[in-house]
Amino acid sequence: MVTIEEVLRNIKLKMNAKNEAMIRSAYELALNAHTDQKRKSGEDYIQHPLHTALNLARIGLGARTITAGLLHDVPEDTDVTLEEIEKKFGKEIATLVDGVTKLGKIKLRGTKEENYLENLRKMFLAMAADIRVVLIKLADRLHNMETLESLPPEKQERIARETLEIYAPIANRLGIGDIKARLEDLAFRYLDPENYNYVANLSAAQQEKRKKYIKKVVTELKKELGREGIRFVDIFGRSKHIYRLFQKLKRHDMDIAKIYDLVGVRIIVPEIVNCYETLGIVHKKYRPLVGRIKDYISLPKPNGYQSIHTTIFGPEGKFLEVQIRTKKMDDEAEFGIAAHWIYSENKRSFKDLLFGKKTKVPDQELIWVKQLREWQNELGKDDHEFMEGLKIDFFKNHIFAFTPMGDIIDLPEEATPIDFAYRVHSEIGDRAVGAKVNGHIVTLDYKVKNGEIIEILTSKDHKNPSRDWLRFVKTSNAKSHIKKFMKKEGMI
Ligand code: MN
Repeated sequence: MVTIEEVLRNIKLKMNAKNEAMIRSAYELALNAHTDQKRKSGEDYIQHPLHTALNLARIGLGARTITAGLLHDVPEDTDVTLEEIEKKFGKEIATLVDGVTKLGKIKLRGTKEENYLENLRKMFLAMAADIRVVLIKLADRLHNMETLESLPPEKQERIARETLEIYAPIANRLGIGDIKARLEDLAFRYLDPENYNYVANLSAAQQEKRKKYIKKVVTELKKELGREGIRFVDIFGRSKHIYRLFQKLKRHDMDIAKIYDLVGVRIIVPEIVNCYETLGIVHKKYRPLVGRIKDYISLPKPNGYQSIHTTIFGPEGKFLEVQIRTKKMDDEAEFGIAAHWIYSENKRSFKDLLFGKKTKVPDQELIWVKQLREWQNELGKDDHEFMEGLKIDFFKNHIFAFTPMGDIIDLPEEATPIDFAYRVHSEIGDRAVGAKVNGHIVTLDYKVKNGEIIEILTSKDHKNPSRDWLRFVKTSNAKSHIKKFMKKEGMI
């Protein structure tokens, strides 16, 4: 049972009396409006908006988003209207609640590809209008997944599939690792109970051994860092969530012994420079596995993720993945765009950051936020029209393709795997030798279609952009990289 006090206790942003009063008043309104309503689980309905609000507080959102979270099912399911909400809480909150209601009408019917992509587009549109709407929807979905048990099996299946195919990738896109992981595990449990149980048991069986082992490594690392005078904020062990572990197992013949990063340790340090110092000390203590050092600090992932990863030969010669990052990076990895707000110095609204011209854009602004704003500017539409854009096919000239990890890469129409590769990373473009679309080999001039999963095959020892590629690539990004390479090699 969640209480409003628990929600308030979990808010990470500074609250003033006015904000607290607003949240309490929203709670009172929701409590009264949903009186006598029960969830399918038999719980009082109010538990659902309270859980939603708690999820929002935990990922670092502020008073207005939490207020809208408490009210999100009121206009749809009770006698209290949106107009009354607007009168009491103002236009901004009412717009958020309305956005959530509209987004709620999007259903994944059947498994037809068109519908799925249409839904994905709608999500993006809602996101562009106000990201908070999508965050509330994710918090709402998380609680619905946690209580999915009480629904009939056919509904469970549909909701779980929708969660895995739409909501989890969006949480990933927003960089909210924590919600993404929880959504994936819950969906996996309903969509593939056999494999879920198999992996969950496998993981549990290793748990005890793993705990002891991690404790040993953490102790050794603490001693080592202390000796070298490195301050650290935290060191702890971590394990993969079940769905992610299953994906890895599938790629490794379901052989758990082949998974190097099954056991992991995360080291949180104060500053970026400490990350690299710490990496040096870790490598001095334990031999690193060649080719497994990933510096996502200088080269962040497309969703903004930053961290250093390295796989080492730990005690007893066992492989172990070590992640090193600052506290800020860690919060951003768990809470994504929401954490971004906790760290931004001057408080700006989401809209300001998205569309504002008066405010300076922070350096570490997530790449996709920039993209959204660019598209917005290109089209010169205002917010209102943007929401109305649900009717217009705004994304007509854009294609969304996915990396095997589920990151969304946007491309112009008729883009090829080479455009995709350069969009992911210039190194990947330069080293591309082949491509797979949804698991099948295609030619490099293949025209990528919306929603396809693209895997780029790369060469470890050769860079090989060719003049030929210039004939078919569509993005200026790819063109300029290819030309740069040719110039360097004296080919032009
Ligand atoms: Mn709801």
